[in-house]
Amino acid sequence: MTSIQGEGRRTRVAILGCTGSIGTQALDVCRQHADKLQVVALSAHSRTSDLVRYAREFKVSYVGVTDESHTDDPVLQELPQGCELVSGPHAAVELARMDACDVVLVAIVGAAGLEASHAVLSGDRRLALANKESLVVGGDLLMPLAAPGQLLPVDSEHGAIFQCLTGEDPREAHCIWLTCSGGPFFGRTAKELECVTRHDALAHPTWNMGAKITIDSATLMNKGLERIEAMHLFGMGLDRINVLIQRESKIHSMVEFVDGSVIAHLGASDMRIPIQYAFTYPERWDTPAPRVDFRKLGKLSFDAPDMEAFRCLKLAEIAGELRGTMPCVLNAANEVAVDAFLHDRLGFNGIAAVVQTCMDAHDRCDVVSLEQLRDVDAWARERAERAICLMA
Ligand code: NAD
Ligand code: MG
Repeated sequence: MTSIQGEGRRTRVAILGCTGSIGTQALDVCRQHADKLQVVALSAHSRTSDLVRYAREFKVSYVGVTDESHTDDPVLQELPQGCELVSGPHAAVELARMDACDVVLVAIVGAAGLEASHAVLSGDRRLALANKESLVVGGDLLMPLAAPGQLLPVDSEHGAIFQCLTGEDPREAHCIWLTCSGGPFFGRTAKELECVTRHDALAHPTWNMGAKITIDSATLMNKGLERIEAMHLFGMGLDRINVLIQRESKIHSMVEFVDGSVIAHLGASDMRIPIQYAFTYPERWDTPAPRVDFRKLGKLSFDAPDMEAFRCLKLAEIAGELRGTMPCVLNAANEVAVDAFLHDRLGFNGIAAVVQTCMDAHDRCDVVSLEQLRDVDAWARERAERAICLMA
């Protein structure tokens, strides 16, 4: 698959999860390149007012609302004329299956994005994938479906690695240096992390993101999930995917080759850059973001991560090495634990404790189907809830 821009027409884009941090930045990219990108479909979970506003601004043909308690919101009467509304839990998957678009951005948060990603790859449209949980949970099902150039990672590190590997023989890659800002609690011990609050954890030093990934960035679970994501995307063992703390978030990742050469990807900490590239690959269009003046950057610092204090990083490594259904359990338990932390029902270190409890209780199997993953996910959520109640 090469460029997806149709002859004489704009590239048709669907954005699933359009009301979130990635979704709204993707809309900004489409706004800035309105002559080349046409937004044709949008989905949101519950924020129907925002959804309707974007549907009107971009004159889209299809919208989806996935949260059943919002499918009858009165504001949906104000959708533009001729716009078709798809409602219910399967709305995102239905939009993902549509032929009327060229690229689908899956910007849904959590394992809820897996089936939409699967639906895109089952057809011949491009998948611009922000939803890393899709690969963590279902990488064994998704990767065999992806034609060359069909799956473009939006996660900034993976977008960076993808570009470092472009034109290279992947067999000559020695290892990946997956960079990590370190989050708001860099340098703290496990003891010091015991009392941190939701407010402290939501204050990320370099990126402005949705609540779930912001907490994952504070526990370093995000980097653990990203190692598993990279393992699937680039076909490398976890032992060759090293986490490197890069506090300034200016190096988005690096690939080291067998001859000792290291290729790094640098740029502004602005998600619109990788989102846009996932739409335009192999072309490059004008940047939607301010450029970095490297003369003013001062320094770039590097550190090793602390796997003892940031236990989630270690748990993700264990799950990624076991593979099969274990990453599904890691992810589902983490989603439940993060939600409990965000609602003051669980302490910060309790997140790793809940994930560990669920992993210890799970008998790992090979991944065979979406239905199986749905069952394992539901089991892990129920087990995590029970663990949280017992900890209270
Ligand atoms: P967010 O919480 O800001 O937005 C999530 C979006 O998903 C919303 O539009 C919401 O309506 C939708 N959604 C929520 N639950 C849903 C469900 N059950 N079914 C269907 N849709 C649902 O999240 P975000 O920060 O934009 O992150 C989205 C994804 O992108 C995540 O997987 C995250 O890990 C990944 N990502 C985000 C960033 C970032 O900078 N925000 C960077 C890299 C990767
Ligand atoms: Mg990332």
